[in-house]
This record gives sequence, C-alpha cells and structure tokens, in this order.
Amino acid sequence: MKKNIHPAWMRATVVCACGNTFETFATKELLKIELCSKCHPHFTGQQRIVDTGGQVERFMRRMAKATPAKADAPAASEETVKEPAPTP
Ligand SMILES: [Zn+2]
Repeated sequence: MKKNIHPAWMRATVVCACGNTFETFATKELLKIELCSKCHPHFTGQQRIVDTGGQVERFMRRMAKATPAKADAPAASEETVKEPAPTP
C-alpha cells in the first residue's frame, strides 16, 4: 500500500437512533445513524413508515383533498368542469 494516502482504519461503534449499537470498522470511531437492520421496515417486516420532514402528512392531506373531487367527477355537469389540481 502506498504510504500517506490511506485514511486510518479503526474499530468503530455505530449508534442508531432506535438505541441499537454494534461494532464495525470505519475511518471514524463513532457513527451515528438513523436506521439500522433492527429498526428498518425492510428487516422488521412491519408496515412502519419512516417519515422525514412530514412528507407522509403532506401526502395524506393532498389525498384527502383529492378524494372528494374524484367522487364528484362523474356527476359533475359540463358547466362545472373542475380544474385539475395544481401541481406543487
Ligand atoms: Zn435502528
């Protein structure tokens, strides 16, 4: 290996936001993560939604707004043609 170009490799402790910790090797001693294999929905098999920044809440609000408009659509006459929902 060429000298002075490789970062130091050390034993690292990984701390997840769920409380799980485990050890591995990395270039930093402490790694703080938000998801790990103990809490990620893919590994747990649960339908838990990992929401970042209220994205799910925003989607639900838009769904609630869009659903009544869809139900009215077949009954709506030609005079009251609804405009398509504005795109964000
Ligand atoms: Zn975790």
